[in-house]
Amino acid sequence: MQLSPPEHLVSQAHRSRPKRWFWSWWRRQSPARQDRVATLAPLASVLLFLAAIVAAFWYLRNEEVEREVESVKRDAELVQQQIRLRLIENQEQLIRLAREVGTHAIDRAQFLAQAEGMVRNRPEMIAISWLNPRQQVLARHVTANLVEAMPRDLAASEASSEAPRPKETTDAFKDARDLRQPIYSRPFRQNPHLVVFQVHVPLIEQGAFAGTLVAEYSLESMLRYFVPAEVSRRHVVSLVDEDEEMLASTVTPQRGRAAPTLVYSVPFSPVDHGVMLRGEGYRTSFGLIGNTLFWMVLALSVLTVWMLLGTWRHMRRRSQIQGALVQETNFRRAMENSMLTGMRAMDMEGRISYVNPAFSAMTGFTEAELIGRLPPYPHWAPELLDESARLLRQELAGLSPAGGFEVRVMRKDGTRFDARMYVSPLIDARGHQTGWMTSMTNITEAKRVRDQLTASHERFTTVLEGLDAAVSVLSVQNGELLFANRSYKLWFGSDARWHAQLAGEPSATSRGDRDDAVDNLSGLPTAELTELGADAREVFVDTLQKWFDVRARYLQWTDGRLAQMLIATDITARRRMEEQASQQAERAQVTSRLVTMGEMASSVAHELNQPLAAIANYCNGMISRAKAGTLQQEDLLMALEKTSRQAHRAGQIIHRIRNFVKRSEPQRTPSRAADLVEDTLELAGIVLRRHNVAIHSYVAQRLPQLMVDPILIEQVLLNLIKNAAEAIDQAQRPPQRRTIELRVVPRHTPEIGGVIEFTVTDTGPGLKEEVISRLYEAFFSTKTDGLGIGLSLCRSIVESHHGRIRAENLYNGTHISGCRFTVWLPVGNLGASEPSQFAEHL
Ligand code: ADP
Repeated sequence: MQLSPPEHLVSQAHRSRPKRWFWSWWRRQSPARQDRVATLAPLASVLLFLAAIVAAFWYLRNEEVEREVESVKRDAELVQQQIRLRLIENQEQLIRLAREVGTHAIDRAQFLAQAEGMVRNRPEMIAISWLNPRQQVLARHVTANLVEAMPRDLAASEASSEAPRPKETTDAFKDARDLRQPIYSRPFRQNPHLVVFQVHVPLIEQGAFAGTLVAEYSLESMLRYFVPAEVSRRHVVSLVDEDEEMLASTVTPQRGRAAPTLVYSVPFSPVDHGVMLRGEGYRTSFGLIGNTLFWMVLALSVLTVWMLLGTWRHMRRRSQIQGALVQETNFRRAMENSMLTGMRAMDMEGRISYVNPAFSAMTGFTEAELIGRLPPYPHWAPELLDESARLLRQELAGLSPAGGFEVRVMRKDGTRFDARMYVSPLIDARGHQTGWMTSMTNITEAKRVRDQLTASHERFTTVLEGLDAAVSVLSVQNGELLFANRSYKLWFGSDARWHAQLAGEPSATSRGDRDDAVDNLSGLPTAELTELGADAREVFVDTLQKWFDVRARYLQWTDGRLAQMLIATDITARRRMEEQASQQAERAQVTSRLVTMGEMASSVAHELNQPLAAIANYCNGMISRAKAGTLQQEDLLMALEKTSRQAHRAGQIIHRIRNFVKRSEPQRTPSRAADLVEDTLELAGIVLRRHNVAIHSYVAQRLPQLMVDPILIEQVLLNLIKNAAEAIDQAQRPPQRRTIELRVVPRHTPEIGGVIEFTVTDTGPGLKEEVISRLYEAFFSTKTDGLGIGLSLCRSIVESHHGRIRAENLYNGTHISGCRFTVWLPVGNLGASEPSQFAEHL
C-alpha cells in the first residue's frame, strides 16, 4: 500500500520545518514500513490516550483520597476533642461531687439526687455509684434509659452490690485509691450489648481514702451523642481497643465488610488504655462516579483498539489482495504484451476501448489512434467498407461464428493482410456485458502455406493421376486399399486383391517370378520395413495381356499405419521389343557365325581338300595295286584304315562347322575350359593358316568347370583369335612374330570373385584412341570388309554369362607392341541368361 502524500501537498512552499522533516523522513521509508507506521500510529495514540486517562484518574483519585483522609482526620479529631472536653467537664463535676461527699456536705439521699440530676443531663453517662473503700456500693443511680433498655434481671444485677466486679473496675478502683486522682478504667463489656468504661474519682475524707465515685459511660452513647450528624453521614467513627477489636461504632458492624481504606485513629483520651477513636472514609460518591467514567473510557479505548486492530487486519488483507491484484495485472499485462495475437475491446456501440501492443504492431496504428474510435475504423480497407461494416454489425449482435471469421485488414502504410478474428463477450465484475473482445491473428503466412500446400497437393495428385503407372497403397494390417491412382482404377478397378497379386501373392498370374523377389518382409518392425525397398518384379497379367514392372515399398501411411505402396508400370511394349531384340541378337549370332564361315569358306575347302585328297590317293593306290595284283591284305587293311581316318577327319570338320553355325537356343552346360579351347583351336586353325599365323595356347591344370553355352564362348574366342590374326596380318609382321598367345588361368577378381581368365595376345598394331572408345559399338569397324559386330557380340555373350571383357594395348617402351583381350568368366552356378541383356547392346 502506498501512503505517500500527493505531490501538490508536499510541494507547498509554506509548510513548516517539522512538517518538511516528517515528509522527507516518511518518503525515505519503504512502503512496507509506511504501512506498518500507518497502522501502528493510531493504535499507539489510542493507547497513549488511554494511559493519559488512567493517569488522570489515578491523580484525581489520589487527590480525592488525600482530601478524604484529611476530612476523616479532621472529623476524628473533632469528635475526639468534643468527647474529651465532655469527659473532662464531667470529671470536674464528679470531683466537685466527690468533694461534697468527702466532706460529708451531702448525705446519701442528696448524693442520689445530685447523681440523678447529673445523669439526666448527660445521656452518655449511664450510672453513678458511691463506693466505700472496700469497693462496696453505698449508693448508685442508674440512668432511666438504661433501665428501660436493659432487661429486668440485668438492671437488677446492675443495682445489686453483690454482682461480681470485673477486673477492669477493680484495677481502676485500686489505681484511684493508690494515686488519689481520677482514674479511667479499661472499657469492658458489661453485657453483650453494652460496652462501658468507668471513671473512678477518689473520695478523700480528711486526707484518707474513703472510697470512690464511679461514673459509667456507655461507649455506644458516647458516640451517638458526640458524633455530629454530618460527620456520621460522611464517615464511620468507631472505638477500638488495643487489640483492634471494635468496641462501638456509629454503624452496626457487618460481617464481610471490606476493610476500609481510609482510616485515621486518634488516642481516646483521657480514657487511654490503648483505646483509639477511629474515623473511616466511605468514598461512596467518588468510587461510583469515577469508576463508571473510567470503565466507559476504558471500554471505549478497548473498542477503539479492537476496531483499529480489525481495520489493520482488514487493511492487511486488502493489501494482500491488492498485491495479488497488482501481480495478476502485471502478469496479464506481460502476457498481453508478449502475445502475438492482437486484442481489441469495444463497447456495445462499437467504440474501441482497448487495443494491446500486438494489435497496434499488426495494424501499424498506435493505441491513441485507435482508442475511442467508432466505425469505420482506420484499419478497414476502403474497398471493403461494406463488408467490414456487415461483419461488425454481426459481431455487435453477437452472431459471429464461434470458429472465427476471416477478414482483410489494412495497415497504416496501406498494405493489407489476412486475419482471422474471434469474438467473445466482455463481462464486467458485476456480470453485465459491457462490450466485445476481438482477438486477431495474422493468417497471411498460414494462408500462403495452405495455398502452397493445396497447390502442391494438386500437383502431386495431377502427377500421380497422370502417371501411366498404377500406384496403389494397401494397409498391411487389414488389406484395405488406402490409395489408388487413375491408372490403377482403370486397369484393376478398386479391387485391393490386384494389389496383393501384383505384390506377389501365390495366386498372382506372374510368369517372371523369382524366389528372391517374393515379399517376405511381414513381421518386421515398421521402421525397418519402411527403410526397405523390394526388388523390381516383372509380372504378366493374363486378363489384360500386359506385362508390368512392379516395385513395392513399405511406408508409414499418414495415420501412422504400416502400408505397402506398389508402382506397377506397364512394360508390355518394352517386353515385346526385348523379345524382338533377343530374337534379332540370336539371328545376328548365327549370321555372324555364317559370315565367319563364309569368310573361312576357301580355307574350309582347302582344309577338306586334304583328307579328301588323301582318301583319293589311298583309293588310287589300292586300285592300281589291285589291278597289278600286288595288293596284300595287310596293305589293303592299312590303306582302308587310313582312308577311314581321313574320312572321319573330314566328317569331323564338317560336323564342327555345322555345329558352330547351327541355329540353336542358348543353352548352358557344364563345360571344361580345355575342351572349349580345343574346339576353338580346331576352328581357328583354318583362319590362322589362311593368315599364316601361329598360336601358342596354355591351359592351366585342374580348372573348375564353367556353366556356359560352349558354342557362344567358342564364338567369342574364335572372334578374338580371328581379330588378332587379322591385326598381325595387317601389321605385316615378319614370320617369327606372327604368333598369337592364348592363355587360360584361374583368377580372383574383387568385382566378380572366382573366375577363369582367357587372354588372347597378339603382336598387331594395337588399338587407337578413337577405336578404344567405340570398340564394342555395333557396326563399328576399321576394316574395309569388316561388319563391326564381332566385339559387340563378344561383350553381349560374356556379360550374359555375368563375365567381363577388357582390351588393352601392350607396350614396348612407348611403342605399341600388340594388343591383349581378356575375358573373365565366373565359376560356379549361374542363373539362366537373359535374352534382353543381349539386345541392349545391339
Ligand atoms: P570387325 O572385325 O568386323 O571389324 P570387330 O567388332 O570384330 O569388327 O572389331 C571392331 C574393330 O576393332 C576392328 O575393325 C578393329 O579396328 C578393332 N580391333 C579388334 N580387334 C583388334 C586387335 N586385336 N588389334 C587391333 N584392332 C582390333
